[in-house]
Amino acid sequence: MKINSVTIVGGGSAGWMTAALLSKYSNIKITLIESDNIKTVGVGESTLQLFNRLLSRLHLYDDKEWMSKCNATYKTSIAFKNWRDGKGERFQYPFGDLDFGTYKMSPSQFFELQSEYGRDLYPFEEFARFCNHKTFLTEKSKLTSSPSFSLCNFNIKNDTSYHIDADLFGEYLKNELCIPNGVKHIIGEVEDVQLKSNGDISHLVINNNQTIYSDLFVDCTGFKSLLLEKHLNVPFTSFNNQLFNDKAIAVRTPYLNKELEMITYTDCVAMSAGWIWNIPLWHRIGRGYCYSSKYIDEYDAEVEFKNYLKEIYPLDMVEKFELNHINIKHGKHKVSWKNNCVAIGLSYGFVEPLESTGLVTSHELSNLLCDAILRRDGFISSYDVDYFNGCANDMMNKYKNLVLTHYTLTQRTDTQYWRDCANINMDFEHIKMIQYPDIHTSYPKPRNDGFIFISTGLGISPLNNAFLSEPYGFPLSENLDILHENWQEHKKIIEEWVDNQPTHYQYLKDNIYC
Ligand code: FAD
Repeated sequence: MKINSVTIVGGGSAGWMTAALLSKYSNIKITLIESDNIKTVGVGESTLQLFNRLLSRLHLYDDKEWMSKCNATYKTSIAFKNWRDGKGERFQYPFGDLDFGTYKMSPSQFFELQSEYGRDLYPFEEFARFCNHKTFLTEKSKLTSSPSFSLCNFNIKNDTSYHIDADLFGEYLKNELCIPNGVKHIIGEVEDVQLKSNGDISHLVINNNQTIYSDLFVDCTGFKSLLLEKHLNVPFTSFNNQLFNDKAIAVRTPYLNKELEMITYTDCVAMSAGWIWNIPLWHRIGRGYCYSSKYIDEYDAEVEFKNYLKEIYPLDMVEKFELNHINIKHGKHKVSWKNNCVAIGLSYGFVEPLESTGLVTSHELSNLLCDAILRRDGFISSYDVDYFNGCANDMMNKYKNLVLTHYTLTQRTDTQYWRDCANINMDFEHIKMIQYPDIHTSYPKPRNDGFIFISTGLGISPLNNAFLSEPYGFPLSENLDILHENWQEHKKIIEEWVDNQPTHYQYLKDNIYC
């Protein structure tokens, strides 16, 4: 197949990210069709660090230029409150490389200290602070672009991601990149899809009777999956045997005090049958309760969510909030690319909002599609298609496992939901990613992919006393007392330094929204 033209159906963030990448790097003819009747999902999204790769591929190097148009803020971590015991504990999954300042320390030393000095002095929440000193900045929602000091190697360019209004980001890409790069934009609803005898899409029929022919069609129609699922009949496998949350209630809430409330992390708070997200944008805070309809009905979920909001806002304010109920279709299609159709975004698959894996899947697949088209000047064979599908499948499995970890490792037993979470079946490949070590294996090398922070935050202590009493060649610290004293000292110095840095709000006011 030789691709000279691409038609994208859907003008959510997946559609515009794909159009932006393709139009920047190829000379093919690109058309994007979007309906002005069918709404996009956009709830106020949290992104992962790979978002920076998209930005640099699009040459969006100047944060001030694009962030200010998307009400974006910085994100340095994801926080999880009440996921382990449900007793008010909150741990962070900080971004950036492991950071011990200038000291040569290792994650395993934390467990030695915990074992020796106890969990009051070394609670699981301390692990992120110990292994990534940037956590101290995060916990106080401070940001800085001044050269780091010896105990914290924070770099605003490398160690951050963003909270964004995904719809405004799509709008920005449309106006600033896609249209100037020649993307043809059609407002209309695709009503019919005509297939050729070999199963390829021949053309689309829009509601104004216009017909659109193309070599390749990209399905970015959201959960509907109009082309891939509805017309090419690619089967969909739900994740509902492992992931329970199938509904969300989203709400846009105001700031009461930007200085205090504009945190630098996505705050995820576990509830009776799911969890609540808190995503600080520049002009508002996006919040939502993502829950399982098997364990709580819509009415009770609203009551629980409103009770949460009433702890933050006056009662009359909460009663006026507009609640948006959303169905979540979690799972993935068997393939993303079939014949001359590729699905990107929610149309291919979705895990659930936890861990912010929606946008990342979209822009990573857009990147892959762009590479496939450029690789041989538009020539595509099964090599490109099978490679693309393999990557898409791997990506979804990896993110599903990352999300699943939060549920399966919980120690909460207060509701049926959490009791059932602890009994979800996991496959061994996944368990290995969690790095659950036992005394018969050497402690695996720490990887910086989040699992280490999540499993520890959820209370897995690999270096238990049995291990310490009989080390299997594991290099234990020679002088734990000195390590302990140093750490207590370092903490004070880092905290003092953090206190003198600007708040997130101040930083944005001075550098982005000015
Ligand atoms: P949509 O936004 O649904 O866009 C679909 C587009 O297709 C629309 O423009 C629509 O008009 C068009 N369309 C549909 N049918 C037709 C037709 N027949 N003809 C023409 N046009 C048509 N991701 C994150 O990374 N971080 C998060 O924190 C996060 N939170 C989420 C919370 C919830 C509750 C949900 C549901 C998702 C969340 N996501 C998150 C995922 C994220 O919102 C999506 O990945 C993102 O919005 C991209 O969506 P999309 O473009 O695939 O689909």
